[in-house]
Amino acid sequence: MESDIKFFADDMVGRLCWWLRMIGYDTAYERDIEDDDLARRAQEEDRIVLTRDTTFAERYPDLTVLSLPTDRPEVQLWLVLKTYQLDYDHAWFSRCLVCNDELLPVHKEKYAERIPPHVLETLDEFWYCRTCDQLFWKGTHHKNMMMKLERLKERLQKMEEQRGR
Ligand SMILES: [Zn+2]
Repeated sequence: MESDIKFFADDMVGRLCWWLRMIGYDTAYERDIEDDDLARRAQEEDRIVLTRDTTFAERYPDLTVLSLPTDRPEVQLWLVLKTYQLDYDHAWFSRCLVCNDELLPVHKEKYAERIPPHVLETLDEFWYCRTCDQLFWKGTHHKNMMMKLERLKERLQKMEEQRGR
């Protein structure tokens, strides 16, 4: 429903954060962050907190918190998508998995010296992360991730059938 929705995943739900970034949702994540710092940043940046900690919502009543009652990342993801009526096919590969920044489509000529010759010759779509200074293209790694996303999509659909609406 909302496309500008933003999350802050606490360090117990790192895998969930990874999946959310994979499908294009803005998800902050900080290893070993103190709860107070996480809460302050979530407030400042208007982010929904995703956590396994059942006491978090009570301790920070001013924040929007989704407590996740399971350790299984795919069930967590299913719950997030369902709770906020989000689309799994949102914007795959639009964010950097490392830093969460949006990837920018770039002209390959600009980065030609950083791209292996056979890739430069055969591919036309390239993306760049300003924060990590990394280039991305649809190589083998991209294909593997695509397969992971498709497989997860099937599992989410099965969950939807089993748990109903
Ligand atoms: Zn990055």
